[in-house]
Amino acid sequence: MIQGGRGRAAIFGIARLSLATMSMLSLLGCRSMGATKSPGYGSSPGGFRIVRLDGRESGPTLLIVAGIHGDESSGPEAAEFLAAGRPPARGTLVIVPAACLEALAVGQRWAPGWSDLNRAFIASGPHETQDRTAARAAEILAFIEAERPDLLLDLHESDRNWSEGDAPALVVPLSTAANELALALLESPALAGFSFTGPPPAGSLVAAVDGRLAIPALLVEVPDALDEADRVAVFLALVETAMDILGMGARTEVPQDVSAARQSSRP
Ligand SMILES: [Zn+2]
Repeated sequence: MIQGGRGRAAIFGIARLSLATMSMLSLLGCRSMGATKSPGYGSSPGGFRIVRLDGRESGPTLLIVAGIHGDESSGPEAAEFLAAGRPPARGTLVIVPAACLEALAVGQRWAPGWSDLNRAFIASGPHETQDRTAARAAEILAFIEAERPDLLLDLHESDRNWSEGDAPALVVPLSTAANELALALLESPALAGFSFTGPPPAGSLVAAVDGRLAIPALLVEVPDALDEADRVAVFLALVETAMDILGMGARTEVPQDVSAARQSSRP
């Protein structure tokens, strides 16, 4: 899997992107670079950062979670890109760019002394305070329960455990709401090539959010066979399409100097 030194400037290596990705970026308006907008950084009482981008009009909330697994760098990369960008026209884009910074710091699926965070979203209620994985899962779930987004997207990379071949996949929980949103996403020309699978594994974030909180949630698996820039572009296309489906209006600009914004906000 992807380790440290992960080519964070790769987002801007436009010349490296495939034609399909170029057309996606064109749809996203990624070529119309504009001024950097200061993101509304906040922090949770626990160990993960929350970025909230409010539109001028009220509307739906889309929540993006990335960095649950520390060896999957493109989700956090895409999330940081979004966090440094413009808010939607309507509603709120909420971003958790690094759900487990501890694992990202070591470039491993989970950090030493932890276990797989995406199998730890199991039981509600009191948890063992000595179990950092369970504690983080409980903090994230409590935050999501309070936020009650209209849709949650959890960004991951696959090593073919969940995707069929080299195509990106939506891993869809059982609820009707999640299935309807997944089908709407898959009908979008911007997401041609996505496949559809499920249900997500027990203990995963999306299984818990969909099953216990009754909030639609989709796990997104982008194959690590794609290079980093293409993985990021696929995530960005998905987020823009989800915002469109939810009626939030597509963002029309992206910041030019994301790398500077990231360096100032990422430990
Ligand atoms: Zn993962």
